[in-house]
Amino acid sequence: MGKRLLITLALVGLTACQTQSPEAATVSTQQAVPASMKGVEARQLFGEHAHGSRQDASPYGAYSKGCLAGGVTLPETGPYWQAMRLSRNRNWGYPETVSYIQDLSRKAAAQPGWSGLYIGDISQPRGGPMLSGHRSHQVGLDIDIWMRPADNLNLSVAERENISSISMRRSKGAYVNENWTPQHHEILKAAASDPRVARIFVFPGAKVKMCNDEKGDRKWLRKIRPWWGHHYHFHVRLNCPKGAKGCVDQKAPPQGDGCKDAEKWVQDILSPPPPDPNAPKPKPRKQLKMVDLPRQCVNVLQSQ
Ligand SMILES: [Zn+2]
Repeated sequence: MGKRLLITLALVGLTACQTQSPEAATVSTQQAVPASMKGVEARQLFGEHAHGSRQDASPYGAYSKGCLAGGVTLPETGPYWQAMRLSRNRNWGYPETVSYIQDLSRKAAAQPGWSGLYIGDISQPRGGPMLSGHRSHQVGLDIDIWMRPADNLNLSVAERENISSISMRRSKGAYVNENWTPQHHEILKAAASDPRVARIFVFPGAKVKMCNDEKGDRKWLRKIRPWWGHHYHFHVRLNCPKGAKGCVDQKAPPQGDGCKDAEKWVQDILSPPPPDPNAPKPKPRKQLKMVDLPRQCVNVLQSQ
């Protein structure tokens, strides 16, 4: 990633979890949008739905420009996990996303000090853009997982609104802090080693720490991508499911473990490059309309 692009993105003010990557794909967009949906921000339309659509499950479009048909819920509490911030109603995903969380949380529970995982946002019932936060998380394949060890799986609904995760970073993300443990390394390793995973976003200091600590197989490190924010949680992005026509994968991460690239991020945090005087002024974020999304998303909204 070029310096100029880095700076531009930084100026746009990316916060945690706005993981629109420069590699994100675009979607073709010729469709008949009903008059009632024209001119309305798509996030308003998707925000109105409290339940998934009664359709066969399918992600449509790209992680930051799409929707979810036939979404299912991650149960609020399972043997090895709890979904957090239930009031947001963002514990909806593609069915494979739910099984991935179930599998990973079982592995997390095997770590000392962990009874499983606290799960943050996945997607809205029908995916799509959201009224607050997140640029991605639109197709039911993105999952935020708290860094805070889930040591109590009996949290009440109210506690799950009020408890916060724990930050793992110091020096603006150049390094991990004293909250980081070998268990975090093992859980992220298990998370990334799963073939269903496309990439995982985490702050640069954590990636470099794992690069330095890993003494065995390093293949999984390729999927761990340094990104802004992501020190209270890590963000797992699954591949498009096999046979899901209309789901748009991101380009695979570059070959190799990506450790040199992460070190460069850390260097840029510690001594920021001077601003580029020729950098274009950041544009305000354009809100997606239905015409920007795959045409199937109209059906997803109209379905029972
Ligand atoms: Zn996220």
